[in-house]
Amino acid sequence: MNQIMSPLESAVPVTSPELVDQFSRTISYLRLSLTDRCNLRCRYCMPQGVENDVEGLPRIDLLSYDELLRIVRVAVSMGMNKLRLTGGEPLVRPGVMGFIGDLSAIPGLDDIRLTTNGVLLQDKVDALYEAGIRKLNISLDTLKPERFAKITGVDCFAKVWQGIEAACARGFQVKLNAVAMRDVNDDELADFANLAVERPLQVRFIEFMPMGERSSWERNRFISAQELRERLARIGTLERIPGCRIDGPARIYDLVMSDGRRGKVGFISPISHHFCDRCNRLRLTSEGRLRACLLHDRETDLKEMIRAGGSDQAIAASIRQTILDKPKGHTLENDLAVSQRGGCQGRMSRIGG
Ligand code: SAM
Ligand code: SF4
Repeated sequence: MNQIMSPLESAVPVTSPELVDQFSRTISYLRLSLTDRCNLRCRYCMPQGVENDVEGLPRIDLLSYDELLRIVRVAVSMGMNKLRLTGGEPLVRPGVMGFIGDLSAIPGLDDIRLTTNGVLLQDKVDALYEAGIRKLNISLDTLKPERFAKITGVDCFAKVWQGIEAACARGFQVKLNAVAMRDVNDDELADFANLAVERPLQVRFIEFMPMGERSSWERNRFISAQELRERLARIGTLERIPGCRIDGPARIYDLVMSDGRRGKVGFISPISHHFCDRCNRLRLTSEGRLRACLLHDRETDLKEMIRAGGSDQAIAASIRQTILDKPKGHTLENDLAVSQRGGCQGRMSRIGG
């Protein structure tokens, strides 16, 4: 029975069985893309040719914070307990700190994480901590300032680095995410690995994925996680951390250097060794579309439903249906074996990675 309620009414508890899909995966993790806007223009993420300013993308109609809170409350009432805020760059959206504070007050939401490019981080670490965030993923593909400017289109490596240092000093659990690209940044693997040993952070290498219609992906830029591990094994010993599943899709290793120092490095391999059988996520795009898989373009328009007066039960039913329709997996590695294309047409910045 679907009772129609005003969209302004707050979420009522919606009882639901565990969020198990038809392949026995429990879906407990929601990723919100808060905006498709960004203060960087990473070549592998943004469409080529987009103006180099934060206003450069066409203005899309974002879900309001109230609408987002309502969806999150419904998802949490159904059993979801982990949330990631991403984008675009989540820290460019005005009012984001207040929103995070409101999220933190939702009972049952145990874990709120943020993925950021770090450009605006330095001045925000205290506010983020106070708002309830403890875990940050910070994207950084190079440790060389000039190269940073080439990859991202903006010359602000120092700001990102200061943000990383401030986050570590404030006590966040920091993971640095680097997209590995041949002949772009793969000469820095050892430098990144050293960071994991020298600093209180984990370094994770992500396989370069073809995303969006005008992706800059090229086969000869792709480096598999296996190759990355083989190359890192030349500078230290990699010991797999068994059963480490808290990091979701990442395979985590202890990197032990010849002098005995240790650090943690992870590998995220959506192409060479996908993790679909363990996938526990749903995504909400910046324009309010619910998406079951990063690499399948099927989406449900929750914004339209909410603005047409849909009830919390209707939102819950949509979430449930999206979970039931969640594909078993993607076929990117096979698609790429026969063509240069693959992946999804949607832009990474609106889906949120
Ligand atoms: N702006 C934030 C940031 O960069 O951390 C959050 C959004 S960004 C879309 C999320 C993650 O997606 C980043 O770590 C980024 O490196 C990754 N990403 C974007 N395009 C990618 C691609 N083509 N292949 C692999 N990872 C990609
Ligand atoms: Fe912006 Fe993140 Fe995409 Fe880079 S990866 S363009 S920082 S959204």
